[in-house]
Amino acid sequence: MNETKSRFLRIKCGDCGNEQILFDRAVSQVKCLVCERILAEPRGGKADIKAKVVDVVDKDI
Ligand SMILES: [Zn+2]
Repeated sequence: MNETKSRFLRIKCGDCGNEQILFDRAVSQVKCLVCERILAEPRGGKADIKAKVVDVVDKDI
């Protein structure tokens, strides 16, 4: 069976270099906490990541 797996991504803002954790199925727009650059936008249940992904954390929820 195809189990839905949620992932958390550590992303790095291309503008200010701030790193923050992002849920890869974000349902709302995610902005950088420092400079407010848009880092991800919701797209069909999976976020469209607009920042550099520096790490991926798999989690079973
Ligand atoms: Zn930033």
